Amino acid sequence: MPSWTVQPLLFGTIEVKKDQITTGLDAGMPVTVPYLGFYLTDGIHKVLLDTGINKKYIVDGKAWAGSPAAGGEDWVLKSLDAIRVQPDEIEWVIYSHLHNDHAGNCHLFPRALHIFQEAEWKELLDPLPSMRIRGDFDMSLIPELERLDSMKLVGDVDLLDGLRVILTPGHTAGSQCLVLSAEDGVYILAGDTIHVSPIAFPDMTEWTLMDGSKQAITPAPKHWGPAVPSSLVYDHYAWYRSIYRIKSMLRERRFLIPGHEPGIVGKKFGL
Ligand SMILES: [Zn+2]
Repeated sequence: MPSWTVQPLLFGTIEVKKDQITTGLDAGMPVTVPYLGFYLTDGIHKVLLDTGINKKYIVDGKAWAGSPAAGGEDWVLKSLDAIRVQPDEIEWVIYSHLHNDHAGNCHLFPRALHIFQEAEWKELLDPLPSMRIRGDFDMSLIPELERLDSMKLVGDVDLLDGLRVILTPGHTAGSQCLVLSAEDGVYILAGDTIHVSPIAFPDMTEWTLMDGSKQAITPAPKHWGPAVPSSLVYDHYAWYRSIYRIKSMLRERRFLIPGHEPGIVGKKFGL
């Protein structure tokens, strides 16, 4: 069985209010979360999950919901350089979904095959008015992705030995998680289906911030159930189905890698 390793790459930061990502908990608490990409390798293949935010989406130092943010292609190139991987070495770019802060720098990988869900492509082509108002999708991504080699998936697919994607709609129609076999267990890279770990583990009373320090957080009341949705869930029925599915696949909490988890910057998984 091949064993994969995962390296989170810091593609930028955004300062949000915690109750934007765990609805109803810790109102107004500022928290800086990373824009992340993930470098994945089994020793043979070189795969990137997500490409971060395009800097045109950061206007006057602010991105989504007027939140202070930083990022862009300089961040992507710098963090790949730090692990000594050249953009042209990346064979596949897989997208957890096509929001502007996850697919913003696809142009840096012209030699790669770009992999996303068909349902996500359709949502990008014709977003609902609410998605247009919030500017979730960068419409200029359409011609960019059309120029690149791409593969559109429908549902769950085994892509390589030990690397599988599963369709987990809710945040978007075509959100997908990556399921990776590593030496120490099976990891799930959750993208924005689960932005941060307190969404999936509502009993958490503290979490680790980007600087490694611990912050006390409010656990959810028991009757809230298995998860706390963010303000960014579009289809709650689909999202809860996805959450139950992901949690049923997790052997231990440590195998969940959320898409904007502050405490994982600089770590390496699968060793
Ligand atoms: Zn998103």
